[in-house]
Amino acid sequence: MATTAKKMTAAPGQPAAVQECDVVILGSGLAGSVSAAILARHGANVVLVDAVSHPRFAIGESMTPQLVEWLHILSERYDVPEIKSLSSVNACTRDIGPVFGTKAHFGFMLHRPGEEPDPRTATQLALPKIFEQNAHLFRQDSDSFMFHVACRYGCTARQYWRAADLDFDDNGVTVTGQNGEVFRAKYLIDASGFRSPLAEKFQLRESPARFKHHARSLFTHYIGIKPFDDVSGHPRTMRPPAPWHTGTMHHLIERGWFWIIAFDNNAKSRNPLCSVGLTFDERLYPKPSDMTPEQEFEHYLGMYPAIKRQFEGAHRVREWVSTDRLQYSSKQTIGDRWCLMSHAAGFIDPLYSRGLSNTFEVVDALASRLLQALRDGDFSAARFEYVEKLEQGLLQYNDDLVNSSYIAFSHFRLWNAVFRVWGAFISPGVMRLTRARLLYVRDHDDRHFQELEDTPYPGLWFPESAKFKQLLEATAETCEKYEVGELTGDEAADVIFKLIEDCDIVNPPFGWKDPEHRFIAPSTLTMARFLYWASFRGPEEMRHLGREFVMGVLKAGVKARKVL
Ligand SMILES: Cc1cc2nc3c(=O)[nH]c(=O)nc-3n(C[C@H](O)[C@H](O)[C@H](O)COP(=O)(O)OP(=O)(O)OC[C@H]3O[C@@H](n4cnc5c(N)ncnc54)[C@H](O)[C@@H]3O)c2cc1C
Repeated sequence: MATTAKKMTAAPGQPAAVQECDVVILGSGLAGSVSAAILARHGANVVLVDAVSHPRFAIGESMTPQLVEWLHILSERYDVPEIKSLSSVNACTRDIGPVFGTKAHFGFMLHRPGEEPDPRTATQLALPKIFEQNAHLFRQDSDSFMFHVACRYGCTARQYWRAADLDFDDNGVTVTGQNGEVFRAKYLIDASGFRSPLAEKFQLRESPARFKHHARSLFTHYIGIKPFDDVSGHPRTMRPPAPWHTGTMHHLIERGWFWIIAFDNNAKSRNPLCSVGLTFDERLYPKPSDMTPEQEFEHYLGMYPAIKRQFEGAHRVREWVSTDRLQYSSKQTIGDRWCLMSHAAGFIDPLYSRGLSNTFEVVDALASRLLQALRDGDFSAARFEYVEKLEQGLLQYNDDLVNSSYIAFSHFRLWNAVFRVWGAFISPGVMRLTRARLLYVRDHDDRHFQELEDTPYPGLWFPESAKFKQLLEATAETCEKYEVGELTGDEAADVIFKLIEDCDIVNPPFGWKDPEHRFIAPSTLTMARFLYWASFRGPEEMRHLGREFVMGVLKAGVKARKVL
């Protein structure tokens, strides 16, 4: 168990006493608190500071299957069982409180100004029921919970504590707070997000951000939002299998999208709120100087009658956040004795909800190396080189996908194609993680997790696959040709559908290869067909993964439901 930071008293008239520790973490959001809990659980002396106090509002509420698997991995690999409390809506509700929403699907409905949405221009990926149901995280409570877990493992915590100065030398880093308190650490993790003091100190930000994608955002929490099925006017036969309100609702518009993330959509929730936001390309929708965020949101809401009906009688319960361009990037994310944690390193867009999954993948890669460094004293950047590659890769590949998606929002067939390039690789991306975890649960050999990093394309969500990388890059290229008018929307869609058809690692059982199959809702039988295809019919790289996954599940035996 970690001990609290050791104090070295100062002589009278001398500067403030310096408290020695192993690691200082700036920011006690999920990234900071989970990292702190892991390190402290393994005996590190950790100081975890935050500029504000829990509970506090945070954005980033929608989960993904990949995130769920990373939570399980962190919990098993570092023996911090409390991390599993975030892994499903049931676990969150049981261990934290009845305030979390359920996430049964990713749902996408296309809208045009002044028009009713056509039910044939919708796509949905319903998450298979054999997996535990993802949650809509009510971040003020999930984050507060994890912060207290970190404290329970022995971290020294400070709230309303802001770093005024960071001073690195060969032997460590001295962190001085605005209140004059001083910590001396061997390593610094900056998990403070966009306004990272470390990025500022070393001038790490690229200006402008290097990404192709552009968007800004308006967001808040509302009460009284109506389920979309109640107001869409669409006949039941044309609705998707999972009701819209049971998952993350994306209302797509030209180069933008509204989100509705419900916390009031599961039977046990006592939370009446929904997270609401609008993210859109600031080049097409410049930020006005003569409107409040509320007026601006109302203005755009008024253009889309069906979305507007969802908001009738609803009102917001907190102030709006109105951002400038959301994208930021850093030329370097790792240095001698420091790391810019994922959300401090860069950001693309909330589309596809990749933020927390990226965050925990980075936490995993960093924690394994940092624990080793604390044992042998080597904190050089070279040791953490993989973390740098991973952080940059996660952003780069996501930029390709999100930029393509925004381009495609203006043409349904093209969107329908890009939707498949995103969705088809969720399963293999998760399976490789689950396989490693199931192998680890059996023999507790850390090698299974180390092998996950031995890939040619860190940051790609199926990082072993050159075919996936090619498909993603060809999709981006095709969308960009449509954007500049070299291809029509239909031509671009045809190109991508053909690429998907020809790509043998895109699985047929889910329906990814069939453009008419707009609602992907794998039943248990479909999952069985998929696993059969993955193990025996797919190309070699899928067969290997499929067989080992199935063997892992079978060997986990009666515990299978728990381990999935
Ligand atoms: C509009 C938007 C929507 C998003 N939606 C999703 C989503 O649906 N799903 C998803 O997975 N991800 C989403 N993300 C990404 C997600 O928000 C982040 O990945 C996630 O919050 C990262 O957690 P974190 O702990 O790194 O940062 P945060 O939760 O932002 O925590 C950072 C902490 O650092 C503290 N801090 C800041 N400055 C200092 C300082 N100088 N000193 C000390 N402490 C400081 C803050 O007070 C805060 O508590 C979204 C992001 C945005 C911008």
